[in-house]
Amino acid sequence: MAKDQAAPDAKIDLATYAAERGVKYFMISFTDLFGGQRAKLVPAAAIADMQDDGAGFAGFATWLDLTPAHPDMLAVPDPSSVIQLPWQPDVAWVAADCVMEGKPVEQAPRNVLKRLIAEAAEEGLHVKTGIEAEFFLLTPEGDKISDPFDTAAKPCYDQQAVMRRYDVVREVGDYMLDLGWKPYQTDHEDANGQFEMNWEFDDVLKIADQHSFFKFMVKSVAEKHGYRATFMPKPIEGLTGNGCHAHISVWDAPGDAAKVNVFAGEGEGQTGEVGLSERGKHFLGGIMKHASALAAITNPTVNSYKRINAPRTMSGATWAPNTVTWTGNNRTHMVRVPGPGRFELRLPDGAVNPYLLQAVIIAAGLSGIHSKADPGKRHDIDMYAEGHKVRGAPKLPLNMLDAIREYDKDKELKKMMGEEFSSSYIKMKKQEWNSFVTHFSRWEREHTLDI
Ligand code: ADP
Ligand code: MG
Ligand code: MG
Ligand code: MG
Ligand code: MG
Repeated sequence: MAKDQAAPDAKIDLATYAAERGVKYFMISFTDLFGGQRAKLVPAAAIADMQDDGAGFAGFATWLDLTPAHPDMLAVPDPSSVIQLPWQPDVAWVAADCVMEGKPVEQAPRNVLKRLIAEAAEEGLHVKTGIEAEFFLLTPEGDKISDPFDTAAKPCYDQQAVMRRYDVVREVGDYMLDLGWKPYQTDHEDANGQFEMNWEFDDVLKIADQHSFFKFMVKSVAEKHGYRATFMPKPIEGLTGNGCHAHISVWDAPGDAAKVNVFAGEGEGQTGEVGLSERGKHFLGGIMKHASALAAITNPTVNSYKRINAPRTMSGATWAPNTVTWTGNNRTHMVRVPGPGRFELRLPDGAVNPYLLQAVIIAAGLSGIHSKADPGKRHDIDMYAEGHKVRGAPKLPLNMLDAIREYDKDKELKKMMGEEFSSSYIKMKKQEWNSFVTHFSRWEREHTLDI
């Protein structure tokens, strides 16, 4: 594959890029409200026009809350995001921004994020995050773990099991190295069949694009080896689910210009002892204040609520939170402050939309800074064992409908995320909930048949 794909110049000409690298097709890709990635393949010979005008899509088919009567939606590629597919080098993926009649489609997730990045930048705040997108490797049907020998009761860091899937993780790891993402570790995670691969944190838009591409890459490489990769929050009953923790810090400038971590603490007060500055504390306060509502974004599916608020898993811990609490370096709470100048939000799961995840972090954090929100008391206990001792900490929503209702009630967060986006999101998620509850389940037959 072609080398040096890292950080291509923002003004890159895609036709030249194709000619230099032997790219035959561009995959012009955008992410819908449900986190699905949709794309058109455009021959390199046609990319010059599309780079300016965008590729056309019938809006109604895109899960962006558009009707059949809307005019064509155009997906305009952002050339700074282009990545030549390491496993299929004649194709290059490029993230696109959705435009209709010359205006951004307000509810399109990448547009929501870009608007919030700009708002934070106006206040001199530049958010950087690192994500931990856990996944399972299953059989192609998706109902069993692909490795029949991966049966240990506590399989975290199992060295035999990680080597039995070396073919997949080595290939993904090599690609991340070539792409310049600075990967630094891979392990077998806490559930049988579950893995995690970590790479270095960066500016939120870049991480959101990488997060999207990572899912595409892991799924593609897994398929190539005869497996099915899933980021589903709880793919196997009784086992630990797929989290997507986000580590968050805020800097004085974007990219390499960042010098000062404005979250790094002066050592004052309640949070200072774990190394968060006043602004870091208020940003965290915003996350705490809006947690039940932002769960509608970070935990977006029916299945998400089988990961949080879950009973003990086979390994003994779910590693997922149940209540809105924070702490120092302790993994049983919703927020962990592992060291000075950053915190880890452990709530998001594998179904989270990569753009909306970053957007809602900025939205809640900025709102916290504006209102000087107090994150509340730090709890240094094992929440799984002693959670009942904490009085007054809100419980996270128990299901998707409760989360959507919490989001709908949170006027401030809805406004920060954009009214257009929020009403589209609530509408489409309610439709999804209705589809779920009208589905006839085996459970209701088993529990009602002989009544
Ligand atoms: P964990 O201990 O939670 O399993 P990991 O090592 O798996 O942590 O992931 C940590 C993530 O946090 C990585 O993506 C890493 O680059 C990122 N990270 C480290 N420092 C910062 C920081 N200051 N700001 C944002 N992200 C950070
Ligand atoms: Mg057609
Ligand atoms: Mg990790
Ligand atoms: Mg993990
Ligand atoms: Mg983590």
